[in-house]
This record gives sequence, C-alpha cells and structure tokens, in this order.
Amino acid sequence: MSDSQNPVMLCPDCGKPLEELVACGARDYFCNSCNELKSKTRVREAAAALLAAQSKENH
Ligand SMILES: [Zn+2]
Repeated sequence: MSDSQNPVMLCPDCGKPLEELVACGARDYFCNSCNELKSKTRVREAAAALLAAQSKENH
C-alpha cells in the first residue's frame, strides 16, 4: 500500500519521469519521451548529481 517507497527517477537526458521495469531480477528504467532504456547506473548518477546541485543551491 506504500507506493511512495521509491522516489521517481528522472531521465538523465530529458528530465521526464522514468518508467521502472523489473525483468529477471534486474531493474531498468525506460523513458517514454526518449523511447529508450536508460541504465540504472546513469539514472542513479543523474539523480545524485541533481541532489548535489540542489543542496548546493540551498546552501
Ligand atoms: Zn528521456
């Protein structure tokens, strides 16, 4: 019942929310805007960079 467990991941290329795909135990992200899969590594790096930029602005 808790669907807010994971924050919405954004596309590192276009910034749109990504669709989460889970296949064979691996998690991938698909961007409906770019119409392509984004690797989890890139998505996480982009999210981390975004958070870092935001906290820098607030500081
Ligand atoms: Zn995209």
